[in-house]
Amino acid sequence: MIANNGRLKIAIQKSGRLTEDSISLLRACGLEFEFQKQSLYSPCRNFDLDVLALRDDDIPEYVQDAVADLGIVGENIVREKRAQVEIVTKLGYGHCRLTISVPQRSTIRSVSQLNRKRIATTYPSTLKQFLRARRLKAEVIELSGSVELAPTLDVADAICDIVSTGTTSRVNGLRPLHVVLSSEAVLIANRQTLKKSAKKLLIERLAIRISGSLQARGKRYMMMNAPLTAVPRLKRIIPSLKSPTVVPLAEEGMVALHSVVAEDVFWDVMERLKKAGASDIIVVPIETIIT
Ligand code: ATP
Ligand code: ZN
Repeated sequence: MIANNGRLKIAIQKSGRLTEDSISLLRACGLEFEFQKQSLYSPCRNFDLDVLALRDDDIPEYVQDAVADLGIVGENIVREKRAQVEIVTKLGYGHCRLTISVPQRSTIRSVSQLNRKRIATTYPSTLKQFLRARRLKAEVIELSGSVELAPTLDVADAICDIVSTGTTSRVNGLRPLHVVLSSEAVLIANRQTLKKSAKKLLIERLAIRISGSLQARGKRYMMMNAPLTAVPRLKRIIPSLKSPTVVPLAEEGMVALHSVVAEDVFWDVMERLKKAGASDIIVVPIETIIT
């Protein structure tokens, strides 16, 4: 039984590829809750919110029907279910692609050659929409799983399935032909809840926290000391969000510089800064950036 009180309800995947990142994201927003996948319901101790653990396939519809006000789910599922929900923001994890692939030895080389062929998928609605838009008449074979086996079993000539970004389906003896949809985890909201004042305010507060922790992701805060004369040189090296903060130190002619630096370049930046006269360089993680 799901209580229908004034508290916000956010649905996340109970157990699967999105679960861990979704929990980490909510905790990075300062929300304190125990998450037990056996229990449907995890109340948050310090925010008017309950976390619901559901199968990902059910989340878009439950949010559409206001069983939950918010949900975190792959955009692929939102599209497939044709749910009438608002996509509030992309979340930067769970990247994958809905891809049409054919067996390595297939003579099919282009999407147009799929005409009159059989395509197996667990995404019939998205695939049919794609085929309609391309004016292709292919037979869509709806399976509930193990789609990659369909060509070997001669049930289909091609498959339309999810693959992680960056990986290839070559391991299954398949050759990717076309990406139908690029997807990542998204925050979705019930359209009516977004308009209601009491819960709308809670959603706005949560959305600010989420965007703050998304902004902070992959960034580090860097502090260093340097002679004032080196500042113009150092400024050119620091790829900062805005210009770096420069604070005078008690020692005459010395300053401290503070700046935000992307995680993937900070080692390189740090070495160059050192060479250019910076010392006592400290790099710390950032929890959130509220702009
Ligand atoms: P559930 O039990 O909740 O129905 P599931 O088995 O349908 O789970 P998962 O495999 O956990 O779902 O995938 C959840 C989501 O993760 C997908 O809908 C998709 O958005 C994303 N994802 C990222 N990479 C992949 C991948 N390689 N294969 C499948 N999904 C992926
Ligand atoms: Zn699922």
